[in-house]
Parts: sequence; C-alpha cells; structure tokens
Amino acid sequence: MAIVISGKELAKNKRDEMKNLVPELEEKYGRRPNLAVILVGEDVGSKSYVAGKEKACFEIGIGNTTIRKPRDISEEDLLSIIDELNNDDNVDGILVQLPLPKHIDETLVINRILPSKDVDGFHPQNVASLYLKQPGTIPCTPRGIIEILDSENIEIEGKRAVVIGRSNIVGLPISKLLLDRNATVTICHSRTKNIAEITKEADILIAAVGKPLFVKADMVKEGAVVIDVGVNRNLETNKLCGDVDFDNVCDKTSYITKVPGGVGPMTITCLLENTIECFIRHMEAKNDW
Ligand code: NAP
Repeated sequence: MAIVISGKELAKNKRDEMKNLVPELEEKYGRRPNLAVILVGEDVGSKSYVAGKEKACFEIGIGNTTIRKPRDISEEDLLSIIDELNNDDNVDGILVQLPLPKHIDETLVINRILPSKDVDGFHPQNVASLYLKQPGTIPCTPRGIIEILDSENIEIEGKRAVVIGRSNIVGLPISKLLLDRNATVTICHSRTKNIAEITKEADILIAAVGKPLFVKADMVKEGAVVIDVGVNRNLETNKLCGDVDFDNVCDKTSYITKVPGGVGPMTITCLLENTIECFIRHMEAKNDW
C-alpha cells in the first residue's frame, strides 16, 4: 500500500517552525528578513505564483515587497531596479518572477542579482557552488524534493535514481543533489530512447517533464518512490495534474507525491528557507548588529 506523502502537511510543519524562528532572528539581529519580488506584466500564472509567495512570507512574518512593472518595461530599467535592491541593505533576498517578456534577456537579469541575495539559486555562482559542493543557495524545487524524501527517511544512498527532465531549475540540480547523497543517477530527456526501460529500473523516480500524466504504470518498478514535479492542466478534465498518471501508478509505489499538494507547497517553503539563510549570512557578514 503506497504512502502518499503530503508536501502540503510537511510545508505547514516547516512554516510553523519558521514562524517561531523569525521573531528570534528579529531579536538577535534587530530586524526581520526581507524578500523583494519583481513581477513584470500580467501573466496569470506568474501573478498567482507571486501571490502565493506574498502569502507565505506574510504567514511566517518575513517582510515582502512586490515591485510590479508593466510588461513593456525596458531591460535597462529592470536592471536598474535590481541594482537598487542589490544596494539596499534592508533587502536580503531578490526574486524576479520568470518568465520575462521576450524583449528582456533573462540570463542578463538573473546574472545581475547579487549571488548572496539570489534566493532562487539561479545565479551562475550559486549553480557553480552546487556543483562544487560549496556553500550557496540551492534552487527551491530540488531542495524541496530532498526534504520530502528526508521527511519519510527514504534512503537515497546506493539507490538507483532516475530523473526525467534536465532543466536548470529542476532536472539538473535534483540529479546533482541525489548524486551527492550517493544515489546512482540517470537523467532522461526528450531524446532518450526506450525511456520506460530506464524508468522501470528506478528505486526513486523523479518526473519533471511538464507533460500531463506522462509516467504510466508500466514505466514504474514495483515498490518505487515516485516524486511528481509536474504542474499541468489535464486536457480532458481541465484540472491541475502532474506528470504522473497517479490513479494508475499509485498502487505500484511505496511512496508517491500527488499534484496538487506535493512538491509545489515545498517549493515555496524552500524559498522561505533560502530567504532566511540569505538573511542570516547577510547579517553575520555585516556583524554590526
Ligand atoms: P522544462 O524546462 O520544460 O524541462 C522539461 C524537461 O522534460 C526537458 O529536459 C525535456 O527534455 C524533458 N522532456 C520533454 N518531453 C519529454 C519526453 N517526451 N520524454 C522525456 N523527457 C522529456 O520544464 P521544468 O521547468 O523543468 O518543469 C518541469 C515541470 O515541473 C513543469 O510541469 C513545471 O510546471 C513543473 N514545475 C513545478 C514546480 C513546483 O514547484 N511544483 C517547480 C518548477 C517546475 P529536453 O531537455 O530534451 O527538451
């Protein structure tokens, strides 16, 4: 019988802990952590993600400022907002909600954020830190996946892990984190041949594809741990669904996450954790509190 891991419940427990931690940090350092979010344009998905982040910050008592700009803002103006936030000593974390309009170079924008304030962990310096096992900020979704596995004491060492997807924000970093925990990792992507043959070998299967119900029961080994990162619309029901055909896959697994209520809530929770960690490093570096 599969255990359906509730990312929502885990996220709630972690946020309760942070709610207690934030006043302690304020007492020690003289102020609370502050996150600045930049939202460009009116994309419905982006607006809803930013609203979720605002709500989560409010819930645990982290300061949050969302800077909203029209979609025709120039790249230069956006970069100068980032410069201001970089230089603002009261800002500990900066997040630019992606995707950005086509006329703005996302790489330029990500690279402009100070690595020490890059709560998403997308800056090349943080990416390098992850690959070199040096201190830095780990991207929120992969961090959340590891916390989900750890919450159930799921053994990673020595296991065969298969990750479907090789994006910079999910597939690659989660593969590296699993490798660091001594899993044997295989990464699949759109050019992988006979993908089911590979996924069927996985003790831990991470689906980060972005295709509704992509992972079918015959792609999953009996007793596997399956983590569903996907956030998609089911084309038939128009409901939110993951990359995993949950109803048919669930019974074959030992542990599985569901969409919604699985990885998603942990992604935002890890953003809060990253913000708190950036704050602590920032305050400790100043050392004048
Ligand atoms: P992405 O950048 O589009 O990457 C998707 C990956 O899936 C690519 O590496 C692609 O391979 C691979 N892929 C596509 N079709 C495939 C196929 N038929 N067989 C095997 N591999 C295939 O997406 P992403 O940003 O990583 O996100 C993946 C999913 O996770 C999306 O649904 C996204 O909304 C969701 N997501 C959720 C959270 C959360 O907090 N829950 C956070 C981030 C993302 P190629 O590299 O060869 O193109």
